[in-house]
Amino acid sequence: MNDRNIDDATAATSTDQSRFPLAGGAPWLNLIATVGRAYSAAPIERLATTADLDEWLVANGLQAPPSNDRDLSVAYDLRAACRTISEAIVSATTPPSAAIRTIASDARHVSFTAYPQGARWDTARDALGSVALTALLSLTGPERAMLAQCHDPECGWVFLDPSGRRHWCPSRSCGTRTRVRQHRARSKIEPTAASGTQ
Ligand SMILES: [Zn+2]
Repeated sequence: MNDRNIDDATAATSTDQSRFPLAGGAPWLNLIATVGRAYSAAPIERLATTADLDEWLVANGLQAPPSNDRDLSVAYDLRAACRTISEAIVSATTPPSAAIRTIASDARHVSFTAYPQGARWDTARDALGSVALTALLSLTGPERAMLAQCHDPECGWVFLDPSGRRHWCPSRSCGTRTRVRQHRARSKIEPTAASGTQ
């Protein structure tokens, strides 16, 4: 029951205001979620264009000039590396060195201009560099122990779970889909009992 309450409360504040999942706990984890239902037969690509990437950067609080096709390519490679590394951590295996190199290389591009109100990344490439930097900080700091993977087999999003108790990612749909599937499975086993409830 607690899981359900946490799940719904988080979803209400994280997904209602943007078409991008933003409740992963860090930009590098949110980047992974730009592919929705990644392990389903029909994954959802939320970064199909440079305009999508620009919107995603703004949604994550990263101000930068408009991106180009090369930036989008960098985003795809970075996203794949982030997914690989996050899944290695939650499965307690050694992250592949190629993925580590990608993130370390991207994290070198972090040129920005500071203002009294904040900062603006000099290029979209630099904004992506800052995303890579958040991955390095998570991988080498205490957040590493807080990573959890969504139990929905079609999702698999790795997110920060300081409580250590979540079964599903902060997307409202995952917990709901799993509950529906479990209900259907129970209904098949106990058709009489299931039809008599709710
Ligand atoms: Zn999920």
